[in-house]
Amino acid sequence: MYFKKNKLFIEKVEGSKIVKKFGTPTYCYSLRKLKNNIRNFQKSFSSINPLLCFSVKSNSNLQILKEVKKMGMGADVVSKGEMMQALKAGISPKKIVFSGVGKKTDELKFAIEKKILLINAETESEIFEIERLAKLKKTVVHIGIRLNPNIDAKTLRKISTGKREDKFGLTEKPFLDILNNFKFSRFVKVKCLSVHIGSQITDYKPYSKMINVLDKIIKKSQHVFDYIDLGGGMGVQYQKKTKSFNYQKYSAIIKKFLKRHDVKIIFEPGRSIIANCAVLFAQIIYIKNTEKKRFIILDAAMNDLMRPALYGSYHNIIPLIKRSKKNKTIHDFVGPVCETTDKFLSVKDFQQLNEKDYVAICDVGAYGMSLSSNYNLRPKASEIMIENKSSKVILKRQKLVNII
Ligand SMILES: *Cc1c(COP(=O)(O)O)cnc(C)c1O
Repeated sequence: MYFKKNKLFIEKVEGSKIVKKFGTPTYCYSLRKLKNNIRNFQKSFSSINPLLCFSVKSNSNLQILKEVKKMGMGADVVSKGEMMQALKAGISPKKIVFSGVGKKTDELKFAIEKKILLINAETESEIFEIERLAKLKKTVVHIGIRLNPNIDAKTLRKISTGKREDKFGLTEKPFLDILNNFKFSRFVKVKCLSVHIGSQITDYKPYSKMINVLDKIIKKSQHVFDYIDLGGGMGVQYQKKTKSFNYQKYSAIIKKFLKRHDVKIIFEPGRSIIANCAVLFAQIIYIKNTEKKRFIILDAAMNDLMRPALYGSYHNIIPLIKRSKKNKTIHDFVGPVCETTDKFLSVKDFQQLNEKDYVAICDVGAYGMSLSSNYNLRPKASEIMIENKSSKVILKRQKLVNII
């Protein structure tokens, strides 16, 4: 994404042309960026040779999953729906891992029937249920057990998942007890230890602590794991001031870990692969000037992009056409939804904006469309993929007739 003669381009396509052709609000992805991100991730960990399972909940668009698959990635899924979508994209069941705190019987059954690589279980009851189903089907199911390592990922509280008080995984004692209880199960084999301590982690140190915890617990358990699933969570630069994640350091730590343990590493990245591949195009419906603020009312809203309302997260906003004239009042970029939290960004100093202008909300590829809803009975946005000079619809805009 870049400006040429004050016009915003995604690859070789002009932003203004996209919005005129496809309307707004519209998610717009760059295929080149996606491929580069995957390549860079693979390169960073090439000495470890991990299995990379794309976190489908970060983005479940079928065409995107197909591209992810072409690049050699598997999938990390958290529901039957995501599993079906990953399979539909052609991802091999042997590269699918199934996570989540509350998998229902029909979801587990489906996973067992499809013979996916691993079901990462999070409670003992879940493992009993898997064992019961496996016995019924006279088959052996490979599972992972998710450890809660009690580590502060130093990220937004609402996206931290690895602390004792979080609902995810099992703390050390129950983890070890369960390992013991299922040691001689004929139908369930514990092949994997999994962890995922949170999302948008920008410092490698919480991961370093996590690896130390793994060392200890593996030693205590005396269990031979084939896989260690380290989850995802690597952060991206939503703001220039955010420091970028140090992949070299993390990779070096894991390399040392592998000298002590003969296991295959699994990663489940979502955000780090897809976040910065997309913008959300929106049009300014109205501008309302008040004593203190200038409200820029967009046709995109929290139902299209919930992250700012849900976590208070930051997404930069840029115009599609740059102007030199500035406006120094406070600008609140908001949507039309009837909630005060339906606000994307508050900034001082923005270029002069007019009604009917277009803007792009940045870095929305992860947890953007996948978190969208029909709140206020608004139809979901369309999704467009840019590849060099071409642009194609990868998800049609929802029609009101289909939701009314
Ligand atoms: C959400 C999730 C991920 C992906 O996290 P990112 O921060 O998007 O990389 C990976 N593993 C599990 C179990 C998850 O729940």
